Amino acid sequence: MNTSEVAPQEPVSQVSPQQIAANDWYGASFPVEDFQAYTSPFGYRQSPDGGYSTEFHYGLDMAAPDGSYIRNWWGGEVIEVSDDSNCGTSVVVQSGPWMHIYCHMRGHVEEDSRGRYMIDRDGGIQIWEGQEIIAGGRIGRVGMTGRTTGPHLHWGLKYDENWVDPALVLRAMYTTQQAAQAGSSGVQ
Ligand SMILES: [Zn+2]
Repeated sequence: MNTSEVAPQEPVSQVSPQQIAANDWYGASFPVEDFQAYTSPFGYRQSPDGGYSTEFHYGLDMAAPDGSYIRNWWGGEVIEVSDDSNCGTSVVVQSGPWMHIYCHMRGHVEEDSRGRYMIDRDGGIQIWEGQEIIAGGRIGRVGMTGRTTGPHLHWGLKYDENWVDPALVLRAMYTTQQAAQAGSSGVQ
């Protein structure tokens, strides 16, 4: 970290890893199939455009082959589909106080008399604003739309309007789900 960094422009949650770990994550889904690597963490980083500027990265980048399916992390309602920002083709889901954002997907947004939807015809995906989606449901595919240099999922998470480091949640999910597996097969 260098001293020229400015504070994040958007609110970042002060929720602690312990508070996140206290949730029941048993039903949550890892958000990408064919996951390869975490390529950029939440927090300050050098601008991917090069140069010396730093920026705050409000999400976790997860590399996966172009066309890999993305799974909805937690059951909820699609509150927005979009295809005209740095985030590229994207879907936003609200699950109680949690908002989860999926960026750089394949496909684009269309609209008809029934509303707006994200469509990825080759992937068999059509996601409507207002639609309820279960945890683990396929909501798109990894692509390269928006501001990106390679195929990956940019996954953003907010709790009560404040950004949260998605890696904290993934770690808590892993711990919960490992414990549940041990519990179901341990004492016999
Ligand atoms: Zn990103």
